[in-house]
Amino acid sequence: MKKLYTFGLHQRGLAALLRERLEKEGVSSLVRNEQLFTGLGEIPFVEIFPEIWILDDEMYPRAKMLIYRWLTDPSSSAPDWTCPRCGEELEGQFDCCWQCGHEKDN
Ligand SMILES: [Zn+2]
Repeated sequence: MKKLYTFGLHQRGLAALLRERLEKEGVSSLVRNEQLFTGLGEIPFVEIFPEIWILDDEMYPRAKMLIYRWLTDPSSSAPDWTCPRCGEELEGQFDCCWQCGHEKDN
């Protein structure tokens, strides 16, 4: 099992969304530290950042490529959009809002 990516504190929704997308690509993964407030005070601060871990090491390079593309590639044909529910600005390749889960209207 390998750690793929560490998210910011406010990116737990994004972590869950990307885990779902990896699953659709056939890559099994899990999100650690999803629950921000569980055990707070007992664990070191750094431990509460959400992380995606890839279960199968052989899938790691593929997962790395996928997540890198999703997080950085602006060449997606879909235009950026703004969530009508919460106002979050989202990149075109994301189908739903990572803040509130609202799905993009097509
Ligand atoms: Zn939203």
